[in-house]
Amino acid sequence: MTNAIKTAQQWLHDADAFLITASNGFSISEGLNLFASDRKLTTVLGNLVEKYNLPNLLGALNYHYPNVLDKWRVYARIAEYYNYNYYPAELMDKLRQIVGDKPYFIWTSNIDHHFALAGFNNLLEVEGNWQTGICTAHPKEHPAVDLKATLHEIYEKDQAGNLTEGDLPTCSSCGEPLATNLPGPTFNMDQVQVSAFESFISRYQTKKILVLELGIGPQNQMIKAPSMQLVAGNQQSRYITINKGQLNILAAIADRSIGFSSTILAAFDALITGKGDVATQGPAKSAPQLSPEEKKRQQKVLQSFYPSYTVNKGYQPGELIMYTTIDGKHPSHIHTVQYGRALMYSYGDPVDVHCFTQDGHYHLVKLGLNKENNEVHGFYVEPNTFIAMEDAKGATGFSQIRITLPSSASSELMIPRVEQLKKVFPQQKELIERLTVSD
Ligand SMILES: [Zn+2]
Repeated sequence: MTNAIKTAQQWLHDADAFLITASNGFSISEGLNLFASDRKLTTVLGNLVEKYNLPNLLGALNYHYPNVLDKWRVYARIAEYYNYNYYPAELMDKLRQIVGDKPYFIWTSNIDHHFALAGFNNLLEVEGNWQTGICTAHPKEHPAVDLKATLHEIYEKDQAGNLTEGDLPTCSSCGEPLATNLPGPTFNMDQVQVSAFESFISRYQTKKILVLELGIGPQNQMIKAPSMQLVAGNQQSRYITINKGQLNILAAIADRSIGFSSTILAAFDALITGKGDVATQGPAKSAPQLSPEEKKRQQKVLQSFYPSYTVNKGYQPGELIMYTTIDGKHPSHIHTVQYGRALMYSYGDPVDVHCFTQDGHYHLVKLGLNKENNEVHGFYVEPNTFIAMEDAKGATGFSQIRITLPSSASSELMIPRVEQLKKVFPQQKELIERLTVSD
């Protein structure tokens, strides 16, 4: 899929700014897996794994230790392994290469503080990080502290066997104990980071912003969902997501999105070199932009099929709802579209929907409320089925029908070759002639 890679490269080149979003898939690519239960856990935490039967790093961070020294031993051992001895490698280098000298901001739920350690300064850590200390008595009032050096000292004393409570960090303003700034009762999101993030968003949200999403789960509501909404709200923005085997792109932004179902490193290589053997998805074809004259013409054509209609945005992203009115003088003529549609009776008289399927079957569906009269409230029309709608026999008023269709689909209507249709459906000859649109 070289084309998608080239397109993605072009998008990177065209962007005014990058919003880089990252979650634990990125940490895992860097060798830090909070959920893994393996030998590495003992390498990092030593005897504490057995002592407390710790399942993984996340469990170790959330455990309620009876002993405050053991709590800090855990933090210190994790920080020693993953922060004090952390040297940004290939992944961070390549990210820097991709960002180049463009404005960027990193929005992450990773608590390892690796982006900062790799020198990325424009950063919002929505779940804090384990290298920052916060006052347990006044988390909002007293300043946060960088604990990198302190945690290393604790580690050294722990290893030497002479760690005491006097070695644990306290608040420089009030002397109360510090806690690491992670989600919990004293968690305080870094307000400097928050306001930097807000000003980045307000500066670029109407410009060509490119969201580069790194290793975020498909159902993530904290970062993924709002960043896709941001893209949906700005026609100039674009979205590149990297997550092996689990891409999830809103239909509403599919024409401005590319997914890489690959490792982050393989996708970075592809974005840098312009080639690579990686699975990609999108961008989806966008509906062609119509000129005002074309729009008028399209509207006129549409009106000959749907005498009166309005189109609203649906309740689901990527869904459009169209209301059409049918009356005795204005049936909806035979036509089809390339996608499936859900038809729902809305109000008024019942409606006869004539369906001519691809495989040569004709059936009549009555849309309405009266079950005794075999009316149904709604049904789904398969793609490429020709339909025509008219007021049910004897009706003298009008009917309104709700049609739900995907917003990303082309709005092109297709009309049948009448002679051919009559050949396939000889018994409906009269009906076809009656409900074929006349020029
Ligand atoms: Zn304090």
